[in-house]
Amino acid sequence: MDERPLTYDGFEPSDEGLREAMTSTGNGYFCTRGTAEWEDADEVHYPGTYAHGLYNRETTIMGGRPVLNEDLVNLPNWLVLKLKIEGEDAIRLGNVELLDYRHEYDIGTAMVIRELRFRDRAGRETSLRSRRFASMAHSHQAGIEWTLTAEDWSGSVEVVSALDGRVTNGGVARYRQLEGRHLDPVSPRTFGPEIIALQVETRQSNIYVAQAARARAFRGDEQLDVNRSLFQVEDYIQQVLGFDVQQGVPVRVEKLVSLYTSRDRAINEPLTNAGKSVRRYPGFAEALQRHTRAWDELWRSSDVVVPGEPRVQKLLRLHISHILQVCSLHTTNHDAGVPARGLNGEAYRGHVFWDELYVFRYLTTRLPEITRELLMYRYRRLGEARAAAREAGYVGAMFPWQSGSDGSEETQVVHLNPLSGNWDPDLSHRQRHVNAAIFYNVWHYHQATDDLDFLRDHGAEMMLEIARFWGSIAHYNAERDRYEIHGVMGPDEFHEKYHDADEPGLRNNAYTNIMVAWMCEQAEVVLGLLTERRRDTLRAKIGLADEEIARWQEMTHKMYVPFHGDGIISQFEGYADLEELDWGGYRAEHANIQRLDRILRAEGDDPDRYKLTKQADTVLLFFLFSPEEIGELLERLGYEWSPDSARRTIDYYDERTSHGSTLSYVAHAGVLAPLDPEHSWERFLVALESDVGDVQGGTTKEGIHLGVMAGTLDLIQRAYTGAEIRDGVLYFAPTLIDRLDGLSFPMQMSGTPIRVTLGGGELTVVITGGFSRPIKVGLGDDVRELGAGERCTFKLATPAGVGEGGSQ
Ligand code: BGC
Repeated sequence: MDERPLTYDGFEPSDEGLREAMTSTGNGYFCTRGTAEWEDADEVHYPGTYAHGLYNRETTIMGGRPVLNEDLVNLPNWLVLKLKIEGEDAIRLGNVELLDYRHEYDIGTAMVIRELRFRDRAGRETSLRSRRFASMAHSHQAGIEWTLTAEDWSGSVEVVSALDGRVTNGGVARYRQLEGRHLDPVSPRTFGPEIIALQVETRQSNIYVAQAARARAFRGDEQLDVNRSLFQVEDYIQQVLGFDVQQGVPVRVEKLVSLYTSRDRAINEPLTNAGKSVRRYPGFAEALQRHTRAWDELWRSSDVVVPGEPRVQKLLRLHISHILQVCSLHTTNHDAGVPARGLNGEAYRGHVFWDELYVFRYLTTRLPEITRELLMYRYRRLGEARAAAREAGYVGAMFPWQSGSDGSEETQVVHLNPLSGNWDPDLSHRQRHVNAAIFYNVWHYHQATDDLDFLRDHGAEMMLEIARFWGSIAHYNAERDRYEIHGVMGPDEFHEKYHDADEPGLRNNAYTNIMVAWMCEQAEVVLGLLTERRRDTLRAKIGLADEEIARWQEMTHKMYVPFHGDGIISQFEGYADLEELDWGGYRAEHANIQRLDRILRAEGDDPDRYKLTKQADTVLLFFLFSPEEIGELLERLGYEWSPDSARRTIDYYDERTSHGSTLSYVAHAGVLAPLDPEHSWERFLVALESDVGDVQGGTTKEGIHLGVMAGTLDLIQRAYTGAEIRDGVLYFAPTLIDRLDGLSFPMQMSGTPIRVTLGGGELTVVITGGFSRPIKVGLGDDVRELGAGERCTFKLATPAGVGEGGSQ
């Protein structure tokens, strides 16, 4: 994959946090922010390293009340490389005059590069080029290379190479009142003259984390015989390399690092293994070559080519690169979920939400083995979800809104409103719809892969337990002859309860209820997919009674869906009675009204009073299901429905949504794709630019938005190409055909790899290597079967993508 890097010219302190997040380097095991190696954490810079599953709990006493939080832990800073010239203070961006400065992210290899030329206080000019990566070839390995040139002087330098365990979680300003210390020192160590190492332990979860680093200096190919001196305390170890430089002669410094934790497989103990590994590492160049080859291989199955739209192309690839930094094949070796904000910032404490709903469609059709393991994260926590359901008085499994180490509910009970400085109650754990997302994800993984083993051994059990939960949280309202669900929230977090009500949650969130009607039907389908023996064993294991199955059948026909009088689905019961917000007034008064909840609360008002929505909620239904599927669902429920009602429902909420979550742009772009492709494209572009341009004004520096990044790729695949796997057929329904002319991407279905190309008014599907079994592809009613090496072409008759003819 050949793509120009993401480039930042000139140093901008106010942008540095954002740049650090956007230039993180990771390999699906751990990720490190793109902080300059020589900077410590302060208001501008924030070195942070995070690994999957490395959580720790700490309690803070706030207002006399203990508040427990679980955080993804900021691990020791392995970056530290500092340059001291002639014994003076170490160079920092703030204490030199920058003559040139460029900070780059190589999209193809997730490598961060800095090139600078500076004049120090003594007037010497020096240039420095730094390159760094976390290896995609060997997940425990990372490397830094400096190329240092004394431009107009000769003299002595010292390079300080350190491993710093004195770090805390301090990356998100609004969490700073909460306990941020998560590490206890264990010990520093050396392995021979070149290798330093450090071990720490998480304070509560008792996970050991070890790093080792080997630093060397070279002139040309010749390794320099440097002076080495060592300094170590219990949570910090450094080695200083002293040597002379000559004017104009570059010197390279290599720091190869290894990272191990006590949760890794195939190790004895992390410190020994870290030391042993780093001793065996090759030099930087060879390690980089291996890393690049591993990325090349990943791109072969993951790239999306959009030749006509260079900016779109670049950002899609940037998103792919970030997704793979967090979810790569290495991830499958770990007990890892999908952290909503990636592994490169501390927002939402590294928790796992429902955002994987936006990630899996892209991933499953390329690297299904990764999705499988990420779904296993949920399966391993099924016991905890069962306990949560039981404790709340339900049966089945109730997965938490925010999940971390062991699958307990990690949602905070209070949250800080930065506008008012108040700690407001947080009721967002009532978003039980995360359980619909998990069910949906397992089902679509199955649709795309036909992985019956997974369904039999893990997927069905999760789906049935989730369906049981919905069966028990719903109650029958005889007056309406409908099933209802009370006390829950939809994805729209601006509505947590009714204004002035004491009890949390709302009645009959339409998104939730319709998803439940669908799940109740699907749960029976799943039972039917199991062999009789497996079905009986599973039913006996979880205690699934005939009455529960009968209740699902009823719920499929009788879930209550609230409507406004004019055929528009009400987001929840009572939504129509809320007040209209003065949108014009708020837009005039505030530069950004995405977080209207904070604005209203800071004014002493309450978002629960108004018809306003943070993000797609009802609208999301049209993103997750085709118009036909929604039509069928509502018809089965006995509601009148027409394509026109869909349009009116979407338009209604479009006018009342502030997109306070960037996920919302993805969903709105998706639903508009078949209805109004050009408007859809506008939303797509906002989603595409949202992290790189930090549209929320300051959130990206706290971590990328993984769901949105993957959502933009899902839009290309599912919304604009219309690729959807249903009942063993991969259907297409392309739109924006002219704009996307030349679009091409690999996919796989049921283990068979294909390439999809859109161009010249045609859509072509070709089976590439590694044939597994014949697949069916279709456009409208035209469904064809493809065998090994075969291709087929559909002629696209209209922009809406109605096909005709074709050749095989
Ligand atoms: C959104 C949620 C999302 C969470 C984590 C919130 O702002 O409203 O839907 O799960 O961020 O990304």
